[in-house]
Amino acid sequence: MKALVYHGPRQVNVEEVPDPRIERPTDVLVKVTSTNICGSDLHMYEGRTDVERGKVLGHENLGEVVEVGAAVDRVKVGDRVCLPFNIGCGFCKNCERGFTGFCLSMNPGFAGAAYGYASMGPYNGGQAEYLRVPYGDFNCLRLPPDVAEKENDYVMLSDIWPTGYHATVLADVQPGESVVVYGAGPVGLMAAYSATLRGASKVILVDRRPDRLALGEKIGAIPIDDSQGSAVEQVLDLTGGEGADKGCECVGWQAHDPTGDEHPNMTMNDLVKAVRATGAIGVVGVFVPQDPGGPDTMAQQGRVAFDLGAFFQKGLRMGSGQANVKAYNRQLRDLIAAGRATPSFLVSHELPLTDAPQAYAHFDARDDGWTKVVLKP
Ligand code: NAD
Ligand code: ZN
Repeated sequence: MKALVYHGPRQVNVEEVPDPRIERPTDVLVKVTSTNICGSDLHMYEGRTDVERGKVLGHENLGEVVEVGAAVDRVKVGDRVCLPFNIGCGFCKNCERGFTGFCLSMNPGFAGAAYGYASMGPYNGGQAEYLRVPYGDFNCLRLPPDVAEKENDYVMLSDIWPTGYHATVLADVQPGESVVVYGAGPVGLMAAYSATLRGASKVILVDRRPDRLALGEKIGAIPIDDSQGSAVEQVLDLTGGEGADKGCECVGWQAHDPTGDEHPNMTMNDLVKAVRATGAIGVVGVFVPQDPGGPDTMAQQGRVAFDLGAFFQKGLRMGSGQANVKAYNRQLRDLIAAGRATPSFLVSHELPLTDAPQAYAHFDARDDGWTKVVLKP
């Protein structure tokens, strides 16, 4: 089959690889019909991780079941399914409690497994024609018949929408509250969208990309361009000097941050200043924790500036980590099915798999208008 293969920093290629097959009786094989490029793929693409050369990337996948193992008895051939990016076993201590992003058995020695990702187990990704799904009964979300018209909405259930939603859950966003979201990439836009769905009265979105801020404005957020002055001061102005009730970090480690490599960005310190005392912050931006052999900078160790003193003084709370996609994607799916949500507003480009290398380059460069790419193998 054809697949997008990682060969080294900024080197990806679409090429022939062996077809995946059913390896265990609990596996399901999916023919991929939509697969997104994610900001998380850029951590590998830019060379910040120890992802192995030869790996097929792609963790935001949707497709049709074409084969099931002998022990699969709920998912059927022909089902249209979306695959949460986390691969869970369904029976470890974390999966049982809904923390499928931290499954203890699919990736021994490291909590959490995913398709096509560094340090998240040996599983290939779905930027390919076919994908093997372990524990298929547990790891497939069945989709309703209107997937034919709403495929670009439903594919956002694999990661990016549940992740944005997770930021608002970690920040405990309540009806009527004000929320500041750092980052207007796909994750930040989905966090802003989710905050509105959860009843926020005011959503403030911080970035420096005018095209992305404009998209945020379209969904009702107040845009702040921090290249035009202090974002913190603007948030304080917009909240009567108190700060926003809640905050979401949706930036993570950025190669394009102009502030230099020792402190990749100051979003965490900014959030401590921009959120009111006793508020809460949800961190879903990824600060890659390993150094794959590059210079020993703080950034590559995943360390960022964070004023714990101010955090303590303000009595703030914080939650972080990979989204537990399964905890939300059924409910979010039903909002799409009911016509109450259209997360496909993010999609800027729909391209064949063969165009993936160019799409990676444009998305990585944050070229104007490249918000979210859906590949159609
Ligand atoms: P992205 O890189 O396209 O978006 C990041 C945005 O942040 C960009 O628009 C950029 O201009 C902006 N930005 C950069 N520095 C900033 C700063 N100092 N202040 C405000 N904005 C700034 O990627 P994305 O797909 O939106 O992903 C964002 C982060 O979320 C990444 O770190 C990604 O790895 C992570 N992520 C986490 C999970 C999870 O489960 N926790 C899942 C998916 C993605
Ligand atoms: Zn993703």
